[in-house]
Amino acid sequence: MTTSTVKTNLLGLTQPEMEKFFDSIGEKRFRAGQVMKWIHHFGVDDFDAMTNVSKALRDKLKAIAEVRGPEVVSEDISTDGTRKWVVRVASGSCVETVYIPQGKRGTLCVSSQAGCALDCSFCSTGKQGFNSNLTAAEVIGQVWIANKSFGSVPATVDRAITNVVMMGMGEPLLNFDNVISAMRLMMDDLGYGISKRRVTLSTSGVVPMIDELAKHIDVSLALSLHAPNDALRNQLVPINKKYPLKMLLESCQRYMATLGEKRVLTIEYTMLKDINDKVEHAVEMIELLKNTPCKINLIPFNPFPHSGYERPSNNAIRRFQDQLHQAGYNVTVRTTRGEDIDAACGQLVGQVMDRTRRSERYIAGREAKAADDLPLIAVNRI
Ligand code: SAH
Ligand code: SF4
Repeated sequence: MTTSTVKTNLLGLTQPEMEKFFDSIGEKRFRAGQVMKWIHHFGVDDFDAMTNVSKALRDKLKAIAEVRGPEVVSEDISTDGTRKWVVRVASGSCVETVYIPQGKRGTLCVSSQAGCALDCSFCSTGKQGFNSNLTAAEVIGQVWIANKSFGSVPATVDRAITNVVMMGMGEPLLNFDNVISAMRLMMDDLGYGISKRRVTLSTSGVVPMIDELAKHIDVSLALSLHAPNDALRNQLVPINKKYPLKMLLESCQRYMATLGEKRVLTIEYTMLKDINDKVEHAVEMIELLKNTPCKINLIPFNPFPHSGYERPSNNAIRRFQDQLHQAGYNVTVRTTRGEDIDAACGQLVGQVMDRTRRSERYIAGREAKAADDLPLIAVNRI
């Protein structure tokens, strides 16, 4: 392919970038808004459908530009309403996007990288190693695809996607520029119009990039803590060896301070049986977080083959939750959703899976559940 045939993909351009693009082709800047609305509000990828754009400009755009999302390999819908898309990105790898409806809220869990280099010991994405960074178009393309599947309504009308969490595959802070551009589009009224409080970036703790984040954007922040001390966190989340807990919590505090409003950090804590679920871990956690205003989200471990970990019993999870709750924390337990389509946290592997592996994992999840008598829903508490 010669360079002259490479078209500019308009899907991942933020408003200023889109204006620059129209400038560069000798067109008026207001075209940016018109085209963005077609792309993001109406899910249009065909310039001919952009009826308020002149025929001459449409022809010009067709020659030099395109609106191209990642290729949808599969879309699964769970019995509980959860949806999962597997999409293929330019590098040839596949990543996953999950939509979780919950009352009036609809949360889209978006991937930022194919694979992940950080190798957390309990994460199936990490087990695959790093493959590639997604482009801004591939990150926002996941929102675009999901939104289209609900009938692409303008951002001002009731929407299916009310929240976006960067909690799919990959470490978003290690694909910084593309993730920032995509999050800007999520929040822009010409994009998806989602409030900054409802766009959340989750990180395992890339400290310098948390500080950098504050200079660019004011989205909500979630920290994947998983251990209340450095020795254990070094084992579970290896990046902790580079950026230990004290340094990490201080950077989160700095980030939250720049938000300057009543917004709190979310602490994610994946619960691993006999590893980080004991009374003494809760005691340490209470001490560790005493100067960090936060809410805590406990994520029961989602099993996958050969992980070497198990999910704690519901009783153990409840005990842990109660202990933190009594110390004054707002603690929720994340219920597993979309289990029948392998859509749970940490189970996203991003390959087109063969049926055998799928059912193996499904059974592993079921067995973990059957071992308990108390349903988790009963221990959820805000
Ligand atoms: N890389 C980022 C965001 C993606 S992971 C991060 O680590 O924060 C989203 C969340 O799912 C993280 O808190 C992660 O630790 C958690 N997770 C990973 N594997 C899991 C598993 N098998 N069971 C439960 N949660 C898991
Ligand atoms: Fe990467 Fe997050 Fe998985 Fe760790 S938990 S390996 S940072 S995706």
